[in-house]
Amino acid sequence: MNTVQGQETPAVQAGSAQVDVAIVGAGLAGTSLAAVLGKAGRKVALIDPHLVHHDEFRAEKIGMKQMQAFEKLGLGPAIRPLVTPVTGTHVFRLGQFFERERKWEFGFSYGALVNGMRQALPAEVPLTVGKVAEVSTGPDRQRLVLADGAVIESRLLVVATGNGETVRRAIGMERIEESKAHSMSIGFDLAITPRECAYPAIICYPRRPADRVAYLSVFPIGNRMRANLFLYRTVAEEWTRAFRENPQAVLCEIMPEVAPQCGNFGVVGPVEVRQVSLTTTRAHRRAGVVAIGDAFWTTCPTPGVGINRAMTDVDRLASTYIPAWLETPGMDVDKICAFYDDAVKVTTDQAGMRSSIYAKRITTETGLEWRLRRLRNNTARQLMILGRRISRRAELPAPSTA
Ligand SMILES: Cc1cc2nc3c(=O)[nH]c(=O)nc-3n(C[C@H](O)[C@H](O)[C@H](O)COP(=O)(O)OP(=O)(O)OC[C@H]3O[C@@H](n4cnc5c(N)ncnc54)[C@H](O)[C@@H]3O)c2cc1C
Repeated sequence: MNTVQGQETPAVQAGSAQVDVAIVGAGLAGTSLAAVLGKAGRKVALIDPHLVHHDEFRAEKIGMKQMQAFEKLGLGPAIRPLVTPVTGTHVFRLGQFFERERKWEFGFSYGALVNGMRQALPAEVPLTVGKVAEVSTGPDRQRLVLADGAVIESRLLVVATGNGETVRRAIGMERIEESKAHSMSIGFDLAITPRECAYPAIICYPRRPADRVAYLSVFPIGNRMRANLFLYRTVAEEWTRAFRENPQAVLCEIMPEVAPQCGNFGVVGPVEVRQVSLTTTRAHRRAGVVAIGDAFWTTCPTPGVGINRAMTDVDRLASTYIPAWLETPGMDVDKICAFYDDAVKVTTDQAGMRSSIYAKRITTETGLEWRLRRLRNNTARQLMILGRRISRRAELPAPSTA
């Protein structure tokens, strides 16, 4: 056993093994799948080069739908202590208060979430810490040779290596860049605590398309107030350099309406900037191996669909395909294709890609069609704001004439 932050992650140094399913990559997708299959009594090997998932800026908030997906898979008890629930998000549009959302959302640090899930792995599924040196796949047996010479043989190989390309490339899968540097996400902590913030959480949409900002999301993670800014710029731009140097000044300029609620955007700690491309995969229909989560496609953080896609893969594989595949001999390409052609998976992936593309176009496109769409949306929102103001006034008691 190895100890992480006072808790034990069930982990082993690489040793040779024969298993039903070998999962390469212990991020959110790989660890979730390993936990579900392990609990179902499958023999599983989970392999990752790092015992502790480093604390990188990735997804930091999920909605009730994703939480329910974790609960459905039996992962609720592992996830719940790692997230901060919040409701009553105040939404600002067109420079004014727009609505108070009653839905529940859950904030977290990605590294802490993955590490917590690793710690909750069943004892029968220890994390094998090692690097894959060789991989061979086929209709019957899959074979991994790790850097220290250990050999792991399995009936099915699951590639869950996120953006990591080594294993995918060794198998022959190709990454297709559908939209290079599609968007940028910036994560930082505000200097105020959740108690000092005027609202439980805030979403603020910018007023000017020229800012190329999708929205700012401010929400609690434990006793920190976290901010995620989603936008359509590149790390090389002067704007990005200026933001890194003085995030407070830039934020106060583009979102003055929420600045006072956010401690005038005083920022503490690092400003983390991530550029994201939209990618799909080619040459993945192969006997013996499936790619899941970001190892299959990457979508944009702006509409927040990556975790939904990863958990759909885990659910479809664990609840339907893997139990059926293991019942009969072999792991031919027809079995594998049934998963890639699964209606729920295809719909989820395609909806995620579509919303990633739409979110950028509605924010940044300058052609007449898109300007008209923005005008239509904003007019409808203005009317809603006006309508709510009028009905609030109507609800006020009539002034006394006495
Ligand atoms: C900045 C940012 C913000 C985001 N915000 C959101 C959001 O708000 N909502 C949302 O739903 N999604 C969001 N996403 C997307 C979401 O984070 C991903 O879709 C999801 O985390 C993918 O999980 P995964 O398990 O597929 O990959 P990962 O979590 O990346 O896991 C990959 C694992 O594979 C391991 N690995 C890599 N190479 C190898 C190798 N050769 N051998 C063995 N192991 C290997 C890595 O160590 C890692 O543990 C965001 C993404 C980014 C970048």
